[in-house]
Amino acid sequence: GKGAAMVTAVAFRLAIQHAGRQRILDALRLSQEQLLDVKRRMGEEMNRGLAKESHDQATVKMLPTFVRSMPDGTESGEFLALDLGGTNFRVLLVRVRRGKRRSVEMHNKIYAIPQEAMQGTGEELFDHIVHCIADFLEYMGMKGASLPLGFTFSFPCHQSKLDQGILLKWTKGFKATGCEGEDVVTLLKDAIYRREFDLDVVAVVNDTVGTMMTCGYEDPLCEVGLIVGTGTNVCYMEEMQNMELVDGSEGKMCVNMEWGAFGDHGELDDFSTDFDKAVDEHSANPGKQTYEKMISGMYLGEIVRNVLLEFTTKGLLFRGKLSERLKTRGIFETKFLSQIESDRLALRQVRSILQHLGLTSSTCDDSILVKEVCSVVACRAAQLCGAGLAAVVDKIRQNRNLPELKITVGVDGTLYKLHPHFSNFMHETVRDLAPQCKVTFIQSEDGSGKGAALITAVACRIRDAGQC
Ligand code: BGC
Ligand code: MG
Repeated sequence: GKGAAMVTAVAFRLAIQHAGRQRILDALRLSQEQLLDVKRRMGEEMNRGLAKESHDQATVKMLPTFVRSMPDGTESGEFLALDLGGTNFRVLLVRVRRGKRRSVEMHNKIYAIPQEAMQGTGEELFDHIVHCIADFLEYMGMKGASLPLGFTFSFPCHQSKLDQGILLKWTKGFKATGCEGEDVVTLLKDAIYRREFDLDVVAVVNDTVGTMMTCGYEDPLCEVGLIVGTGTNVCYMEEMQNMELVDGSEGKMCVNMEWGAFGDHGELDDFSTDFDKAVDEHSANPGKQTYEKMISGMYLGEIVRNVLLEFTTKGLLFRGKLSERLKTRGIFETKFLSQIESDRLALRQVRSILQHLGLTSSTCDDSILVKEVCSVVACRAAQLCGAGLAAVVDKIRQNRNLPELKITVGVDGTLYKLHPHFSNFMHETVRDLAPQCKVTFIQSEDGSGKGAALITAVACRIRDAGQC
């Protein structure tokens, strides 16, 4: 009768809705084959970045870091470290002890980088940094102390020695003018000089390198550093003979891959969606850091928001009502993604998170869908990241002509550490795509800052040995 017809009509409408939702989500799902393709292309870009003739055109720059040796435990002393370019700006005091009481002990203070400093002039940014160093020294009761300093500067830099880093381009929303093309050590020293005090800037270090160093201090098999936080990147120990940009062919050197730029010449076009394009268009650096924008914390929330916009426009979410909130860029911070996907969370808690975000018209069904969107976007990020990492460990294995490689990856970054599923998906992908590598992952505690101090300590040890 009429009732049955109505039930059928409702069931039909629901089935169509479901199919419509899945069609949108399918664009964000990657097959094993596609992931293998990502791995292969990353491997090719790595070789192009290392080779002299293709380096200029390569997206993955494979930058030399002039870090050649890991700490051996004989380092000691007191060092200052700066950590700029992650979620927080920090100043650290690190004490390194050798011998039986071998240890690394640190104090640090977090400082805000005001929007004006991030997007004003370089002078303002570096004056602010030096102001924070001065404040920190006073806070530690060490006013006027002149210590060797390691600068963790988490942006792509061209280095021709350890204590020089020419900023190639800003990433992650930083925009301060007059810095690109300049040596950040000089910018820092000039600012220190303006405040009339004295520090010995010994090393500029990428956060991946700091992380690898810190983990390597505990585990000698650690020869890869990975960051999945605000941005994403990898470094690893490469054979000098493969590094055509640096003289010499003995031993190894750490390479800062700057893999975030992978895809900038279209290598990821097959996988990128309209949501990715929308995120890129409104970012501070359109057309740049394509891979990073599909993986890291600064962008995942925006991808999710763009998917939700599409669902809503199609009438598949929030009763088809586009709220002002949902149209607001940046409302979905990474921490919400992690919270929404937490297994212990009941649906009504998902709903209360949505309400907290100002998305008040949500039903129970909406909560399920939002959670699914978050999960698909995070899973894709983790798999893309795992595919890239599979290329890295397999390259190291091939470098050494080994049928099987045992290696440790030191990892840091808020997304990797706080998201409930990211690390599992990522590990699984590496296992699937690089079956000949036995990879152990260890999380670094404050790796980027501590690592800069360790690298500074190694440099001072070598320098002091040279002096006597
Ligand atoms: C930067 C890298 C950095 C990574 C993680 C990227 O945006 O280009 O230098 O290692 O973020 O912080
Ligand atoms: Mg960091």
